[in-house]
Amino acid sequence: MRLRNIPGADEAIANSTYCVKDPETHKGNWQELFPSRQPLHIEIGMGKGRFMMDMATANPDINYIGIERYSSVLLRALQKMELNPLPNLKFICMDAADIAEVFAPEEVSRIYLNFSDPWPKDRHAKRRLTSREFFARYDQVLAQNGRIEFKTDNQNLFTFSLEEVPEAGWHLDASTRDLHHDPILNEGNVMTEYEEKFSSLGNPICKLIASR
Ligand code: SAM
Repeated sequence: MRLRNIPGADEAIANSTYCVKDPETHKGNWQELFPSRQPLHIEIGMGKGRFMMDMATANPDINYIGIERYSSVLLRALQKMELNPLPNLKFICMDAADIAEVFAPEEVSRIYLNFSDPWPKDRHAKRRLTSREFFARYDQVLAQNGRIEFKTDNQNLFTFSLEEVPEAGWHLDASTRDLHHDPILNEGNVMTEYEEKFSSLGNPICKLIASR
C-alpha cells in the first residue's frame, strides 16, 4: 500500500473514541467496550476499514475490531465511522505481531486476513500474516472452535499459506483459487477494497479457511 504521511493522523487517532488506546490494558476485557457481550471477530491489516464496516453493519450480533498498523491508513476508517457510527466496531492502531499481548487466550472467535502484504523475499517470510510464526500468535488468542479466513489475489502468497497451515499444526477446512465462481465459499462474501480493485482487473480471488 502506498503510504503518505498525513499531517494530524496520529493526533486524530489519539482523540477518536472509535480507536482504542493502550490496547494491552483491555486484555481479557474487550467485551466491556461494547454495548452487548457477543462473539468477537477481528480483521488484521484492515486498511481503510470498508470490510469491517460492512461486516459490522450486516452482523449486529457480532463485535468487531479492525487492526491496522499505519495511522495514515486507519485515519480513513475513522472518518467513515464519524459519518456512520457503529456500536459493534472498534479500531486498534498496532502491529499484529503483538496480538498475544492485547487479547487473552480464547478471547477472539474469528480472525480475518484480507489481501495481506505478500513480503515476496524469502528472508521476510516470517513477516507474512499467514506464516507459521503468525499462526502461533493466533493460537494464543483464538477460541478453540475459532477459525482464520484469508483472502488474496497473490498466487504465490496463497500457495505459501496453503503449505503453512499444516506446518503450523492447523487444519485446512476449505480453499479455492476462484472464490467468485465458487458457489459455496462465495455465498455471503463481503468484498474488501483490495478485492474489488483486483477482481475488476480480472485477477481471480483465492480464499482459505483454517482451524485447529
Ligand atoms: N484488508 C484491506 C483490504 O483487503 O482492502 C487492506 C489490504 S492492504 C494490502 C494490507 C494492510 O495490512 C495495510 O494497510 C497494512 O498497513 C496492513 N498490515 C500489514 N501488516 C500488518 C501488521 N503486521 N499489523 C497490522 N497491520 C498490518
